[in-house]
Amino acid sequence: MSKFVLKRAANGVWYGLFTHLAHRGVKHGVSTRLGGLSTPPYATLNLGLKSGDDPDKVCLNRDLFCQAVGVDYARAVTCQQVHADRIHLAGAEDAGRGARDHAAAVPASDALITDQGGLPLILFYADCVPVLIFDPVRRAIGLSHAGWKGTVAKIAAKTVLAMGEHYGTRPADCLVGIGPSIGPCCYEVDAPVVEALRASFGPAWRHLVVPRGDRWLLDLWHANRDQIEEIGVPRAHIDISGVCTAENTELFYSHRAERGTTGRMGAIISL
Ligand SMILES: [Zn+2]
Repeated sequence: MSKFVLKRAANGVWYGLFTHLAHRGVKHGVSTRLGGLSTPPYATLNLGLKSGDDPDKVCLNRDLFCQAVGVDYARAVTCQQVHADRIHLAGAEDAGRGARDHAAAVPASDALITDQGGLPLILFYADCVPVLIFDPVRRAIGLSHAGWKGTVAKIAAKTVLAMGEHYGTRPADCLVGIGPSIGPCCYEVDAPVVEALRASFGPAWRHLVVPRGDRWLLDLWHANRDQIEEIGVPRAHIDISGVCTAENTELFYSHRAERGTTGRMGAIISL
């Protein structure tokens, strides 16, 4: 059963949280499109500086989302996401990188890890999969961004392993939330994607797709769960929100369902 719930903050922002993370005191959230200042087609809580929306409104929206979650927007660190598998180890010197200015964000990375308190990690999504990772034993966090390319590159598993390398994180201790993103109900892909999936996942690829005509429906949620389970994160520690962005465009931005002209949600996590 999903432990993902939606909550309305005092400032009117609606965001989702994972109760298994919240119970351990880790500040985090996945934004919706409700409670911000942007106008259509970005209405209302658009957090994407590269989406075509007014950057001043986007920054105000980011600040509202950070207030809702209880973290300091001025210290949030983000990346210039490129659908690859590079992971950035965020330190105190990165505080505020990319929060207000895309050019200042960490270049060419799709995941962040840290063991620093008060250093919120934030990435942006519209159908791609947010994976939030918390190690309560070593006190470390990770956040990854995975469309199909990141998923077949196993960026979520690599993020957990990077936390192991740098902070001594054991996968068995990690608690993980897989946030709203395009679901296996809607994510149609073509043969080259399935070939990449087969090359990366081996025989298990068959469990991650369902044929539809000459294309396939791909299950990014289970592809991300399976890759972190394979390296030792217990299935009981992994929560899949099970919310499809493409079917819920009143609540979430969907690049696919809205044909590219839309905003971005944010996922944030902070010690
Ligand atoms: Zn769907």
